[in-house]
Amino acid sequence: MNHLFFQLNKLKSLLKNKFIFLFLDYDGTLTPIAQSPDKAIISRKTIEILGGLSKIPHCKVAIISGRALKDIKKKIGLEEIIYAGNHGLEIDGPKVKFKTPISLKYIIVLKKIKTILKKKLSKIRGVIIEDKGLTLSVHYRLVNTKDAWLVKTIFHEALAYYIVSNKIKTRPGKKVLEIRPVLEWDKGKIVLWLIARLKFVLGKKPFVPIYIGDDITDEDAFRALKNKGLTVFVGNPGNSHAKYYLRNTQEVSEFLEQILKIKTDENICQD
Ligand SMILES: [Mg+2]
Repeated sequence: MNHLFFQLNKLKSLLKNKFIFLFLDYDGTLTPIAQSPDKAIISRKTIEILGGLSKIPHCKVAIISGRALKDIKKKIGLEEIIYAGNHGLEIDGPKVKFKTPISLKYIIVLKKIKTILKKKLSKIRGVIIEDKGLTLSVHYRLVNTKDAWLVKTIFHEALAYYIVSNKIKTRPGKKVLEIRPVLEWDKGKIVLWLIARLKFVLGKKPFVPIYIGDDITDEDAFRALKNKGLTVFVGNPGNSHAKYYLRNTQEVSEFLEQILKIKTDENICQD
């Protein structure tokens, strides 16, 4: 896995005169992971860069987050961007609106599970149960390290029946456990779906998809874009399916600024 900045010249020629479709995760990618989800605030500078990118005619930006759609829209607040919340279960942006049809049965089960988990995890300090509408997240970042296994054990024991009977599925992330509907819909599939829509509009014009993310759920997108686009893992290089890596959110911001510069120069040349 190569550090992205070592390849910058190669990248410049790859991105030159092509339409860029930029897919970005939020937590751990655009903003450092905070102690609790409400404290992860994106910097003004990164917002400005994203705003700049979203205004360039040859560039489209999509935020693909595990957060609820409403939450992620509010956190970024830019209009020209596509937002995919709950790992793509709900999408909103210019000319695109989508919400996965969810059965009422599932919503009732989710409510029941929320009550069960609240009760069973109430004695462990630091647990945050986040209701994201279509999914539930159990955050244990603030839990004493020695109690983290207890959270996981209670979580899996409480949900065993619902998992086995195929009513829900669970997925781990960074210090978070998520409950979601039993659907084959992940960040990889949503990215391919958005690309297919864009291709329809662009016709034969060349374009490059870029995906930047830091967590397990981003791996689906890295796999989906293998040999199709530029994939960038954020963090220490390890067992990711991404081709390149950036060390932290600061480097992500610098990279986005580079893209903005390349594309702005192009625009000026074309004028
Ligand atoms: Mg993330």
